[in-house]
Amino acid sequence: MKKNENKIINLSTDNYPLSIEVEQKDIKNIHLSVYPPNGRVRISAPNRMDLDTIRVFALNKLKWIRKQQEVFRNQERETPREYLTKESHYFLGKRYLLEVKIHNKPPKVILKHNTIEVYVRPNTSEDKRKEILEEWYRNQLNKIVPKLISKWEKVMGVQSNEFRIKKMKTKWGSCNTTAKRIWLNLELAKKPLECIEYIIVHELAHLLEPTHNEVFVAYMNKFMPKWRFHRDELNRLPFRHTEWKY
Ligand SMILES: [Zn+2]
Repeated sequence: MKKNENKIINLSTDNYPLSIEVEQKDIKNIHLSVYPPNGRVRISAPNRMDLDTIRVFALNKLKWIRKQQEVFRNQERETPREYLTKESHYFLGKRYLLEVKIHNKPPKVILKHNTIEVYVRPNTSEDKRKEILEEWYRNQLNKIVPKLISKWEKVMGVQSNEFRIKKMKTKWGSCNTTAKRIWLNLELAKKPLECIEYIIVHELAHLLEPTHNEVFVAYMNKFMPKWRFHRDELNRLPFRHTEWKY
């Protein structure tokens, strides 16, 4: 038996599919954890335990898992953003504390290891602080995305013409297959890199197959075997770090 090989268990017994990451290692007991902020579920199990046993264990804990996820979900919902010091903001899946700093120069944003510093002029409004941060997110995506697109274009043997970023209320991305243009949701800047990558692979896969049929799914399985896990992570709590009302 190989050590530390990660597997995924997919449960779909209640109304929402659940992907559980399973890590088997040299331990005696099985552990299940639900992680904030988005309720990711992970099981550590002994090497010798077979996947069916782990699945049964997870099924028995399903109610508890859902309850924990609900707690995290409510915590996130209860915090509308005002773009003030000490607020939590996310970048690439990591939580940072916002620090608003006053200076008399044009606004700028600096990422430190645990904080996002936003430098603004005195009396800058909440809307303006929001705008400055969103502009920064947009710039970050503009730096990250081209490399990912060209990496996956090579892997998948496709060629897009351009990508654009915008705020979208219901989608993480879309692909205009005629223009070969990919649209990405600005909110993706807050998500883990693997999730951004998953959306890019998904949209590029539309250049091979425009609809979500079995051919499309086969491409996804081929190019990104863990795509369901990333999808679930994104869709379990859509737009959870935003103040958008819908
Ligand atoms: Zn699609």
